[in-house]
Amino acid sequence: MKLNAKKFTSSMSQQLRKGAFFKTNPENLRKIFFALEKTSKFLAVESDINTILSKIASSIGKALGAKYVNFWDFTPDKKAVYIIAAYGMQKQYSQYSIKDPIELGTMWVGKAMKYGQAFATYDLPNDPNLPPPWLPAVKKQGVRGLVCIPLKRKNEIIGGMCIYYKGVHEFTYFEMSIATIVANQAATAVANTRLFNDLLSEKNKTVATLQSLKDGLIIYDMDGKILLFNHRAEEILNLKALEVVGKSVNADDIAKGPGWANLFKIKSLVQMDFTSQEFELPKPQAKVLDISYLPVREQYRKIGAMQILRDITKEKEAEKLKYNFISIASHQLRTPLTELKWGLSSLAGGDFGALNTKQSGVISKTARITEYMINLVNDLLDVSKLEEGGFDFNMVKGDLVKITREVFDQLKYSAAKRELKFTLEEPVEKLPEFKFDAQRLTIAIGNVLANAVNYTLPKGFVRIKFKVDNQRKFVFLIVEDSGIGIPDAEQKFIFSKFYRAKNAVKIHTDGSGLGLYIASEVMKKHSGQLYFTSKENKGSTFYLQFPV
Ligand code: ADP
Repeated sequence: MKLNAKKFTSSMSQQLRKGAFFKTNPENLRKIFFALEKTSKFLAVESDINTILSKIASSIGKALGAKYVNFWDFTPDKKAVYIIAAYGMQKQYSQYSIKDPIELGTMWVGKAMKYGQAFATYDLPNDPNLPPPWLPAVKKQGVRGLVCIPLKRKNEIIGGMCIYYKGVHEFTYFEMSIATIVANQAATAVANTRLFNDLLSEKNKTVATLQSLKDGLIIYDMDGKILLFNHRAEEILNLKALEVVGKSVNADDIAKGPGWANLFKIKSLVQMDFTSQEFELPKPQAKVLDISYLPVREQYRKIGAMQILRDITKEKEAEKLKYNFISIASHQLRTPLTELKWGLSSLAGGDFGALNTKQSGVISKTARITEYMINLVNDLLDVSKLEEGGFDFNMVKGDLVKITREVFDQLKYSAAKRELKFTLEEPVEKLPEFKFDAQRLTIAIGNVLANAVNYTLPKGFVRIKFKVDNQRKFVFLIVEDSGIGIPDAEQKFIFSKFYRAKNAVKIHTDGSGLGLYIASEVMKKHSGQLYFTSKENKGSTFYLQFPV
């Protein structure tokens, strides 16, 4: 802070005298440096602004032999100033200044805080700038020498500091320099504390928001220690935040009760960033949760993770009812449709007399539609069973090549009709064995293979092969075709129920859009994956990946 002696408005204003610095005795110097050292320490250990300023006031007041030292802040409207911390002064004066603050721009402190300059007087009661109504109070307090210095932070005035002496007091250049250093330290303390309080209030707002979320939220640090466990997480898991925050839940905690066991299971779910997974809380809660896993980042660096627990029990129940309905309706439709199919094939076969060309045309078209409806109803039945959890998966060790060959044989006829080069490359070495449900997997493989045949134009190829990765951890069934491919923009929807790409609808009208959904669900039940690469008008390759 630059002191500008010209700004001392009073005729009794203090002029700075450089030479005075050298007259200060060594004992005083020692005291002052000790006080300065102490004030810088308060900045490091204290966080409450009033405590810091009171301590600074007291140590500097004592070192300079002043009667009072006080710090001033602006009123909220910035039109006046009042005392926030003081040394030597009776409390009532500080309190009085809160009730009746000094107008900004008046008196020594009001000027210092308005103009950003030091204002001083060596004899306050006799200074003509003192408004007469103040005289009795000033006399009662017994102060004469006064200097007020603004607290500045990057050109912004954020407060003021005044030092009062009992007797007439000429301020030396040295005293002014010390006062300025102290004012700077105090300004830093005030600015830091305000920043800290702002951050704290931001943090509190964020925590309050997270606490009031309607979903459960658990935040972990990089070591898996729980940092936050909101109210909804407490309700869902029947645990108190107080019990779990700061802990890294492990297998030993399971014994503490069902809440802990569930928390351990949830924490142990193997989840990639930004994925979600369903999780069933066993009785007595019997809830279904959708658990999303998200990274917590600080400027691109991962510093932890969070799990969001959404209670989807009601949605699941409603869905179950819906699929139950679809399942019953499909069952009811399947019998009459099958009878219709037999009736039509008897008619087409001439069991009831020969048909003319027109009649057999109508019959074969109707038979095709009936076939389509039977397939659709079967797909719907599969979907509803999968969704309801009604499919019991009977996992036994089996031969993947064998079931693939059976599906391949069934499709040979359709492939030949389309003049496709349809091949199955059997593996040279025996595949590692793993468990699967042959019946369900046949449906999944059938859907993928039938698609390759249906979506490949005449004279193209469909190639089926097997692969094992180097570590023999995964077996792949690979279905490659030279077909119409899947347009880039539509690839992300391909596994959704009923979705059919525009180019597919044109060349094969009979699809239901359920085949790949069923296949991928069946693969999930095998802890496997179904994925693909595809280029429009070039072809697609579908991968069925099984863990061994
Ligand atoms: P669909 O009954 O329509 O075949 P699927 O669920 O089996 O239903 O497939 C969904 C959509 O994925 C198809 O309609 C088609 O757009 C696309 N698709 C699947 N397999 C292939 C493939 N091998 N080549 C091109 N498109 C494919």
